[in-house]
Amino acid sequence: MSKKRILITGGAGFLGSHLCEHFLDKGYRVVAMDNLITGDIRNIEHLFPNPDFEFYHHDVSKFVHVAGPLDYILHFASPASPIDYLKIPIQTLKVGSLGTHNLLGLALAKRARILVASTSEIYGDPLVHPQSESYWGNVNPIGPRGVYDEAKRFQEAMTMAYNRYHKLETRIVRIFNTYGPRMRLNDGRALPAFIGQALRGESLTVFGDGSQTRSFCYVSDLVEGIYRLLLSDYDQPVNLGNPSEITIKEFAEEILKLTGSKSTIEFKALPEDDPKQRQPDISLAKKVLDWEPKVDRSEGLAKTYTYFKGLGPQELRERQ
Ligand code: UDP
Repeated sequence: MSKKRILITGGAGFLGSHLCEHFLDKGYRVVAMDNLITGDIRNIEHLFPNPDFEFYHHDVSKFVHVAGPLDYILHFASPASPIDYLKIPIQTLKVGSLGTHNLLGLALAKRARILVASTSEIYGDPLVHPQSESYWGNVNPIGPRGVYDEAKRFQEAMTMAYNRYHKLETRIVRIFNTYGPRMRLNDGRALPAFIGQALRGESLTVFGDGSQTRSFCYVSDLVEGIYRLLLSDYDQPVNLGNPSEITIKEFAEEILKLTGSKSTIEFKALPEDDPKQRQPDISLAKKVLDWEPKVDRSEGLAKTYTYFKGLGPQELRERQ
């Protein structure tokens, strides 16, 4: 039987690179596509010798051409951190809207099943807790996060339109905060920021009073959930994340303990529209995918710290 072929956009990014590895391990032929604005070729360099792996340096906001058959598409191309949306807001809007449209068109042309990466950000600063898929969200369309949140909301609408109108096989995953090796150190996210600061002996910058909550999922759990969702027959949005919730101040303290750092915590202004709380309701994923996270935070943080420590001072600087 010939191998299935999958296109992974954002393939050189944090999640994309882990997905490339996973699908190669499962015996797929993988085409990774990335414009390398926020992705990093070093994340996939080790895959180049594999004859089942190809890489296209391309911006999916422009017409996407892939020669040959495709069975599946994973659309994971997008800046995904608040600092990135502030730096490249127009590209963020374009990849979620025009990029999604191009990939839906490609999926239709290839008769491929497509899974798009949506986000807990579509719930905005949620008024319902924990967030289940039936909640429609509380999003500020014109705030700094609006470029990401609204692009992802548009992406979901466009995907469902192709599903209904063209009968395209589509899947939507709503990803909650995820962490692990290959996150960018300076993308502004809490975990790489705190680990980088601890490694450099700087104080840890907690925004606001640190009472806002998040629920952090280790990357291997997320990847397994995405794999199951892609192969399932469920075409409505599914939350994936780890429901174990923690305040950001406690999270910073956990990282100080893990790294053995003598650094202190420094409180800084809370960014605009920073959600006060976030926790996924994963009952649906449990039911339709028989999935739940297996890696608890202490294990996941230890693995992530080992990775960053192992980079050495030069790569730590280069990955800034
Ligand atoms: N945060 C923080 N210090 C930092 C970076 C982030 O206190 O150096 C806070 C941020 O304001 C948010 C939480 O940590 O409340 C999680 O931020 P992240 O960017 O990781 O995820 P998101 O806000 O997108 O959920």
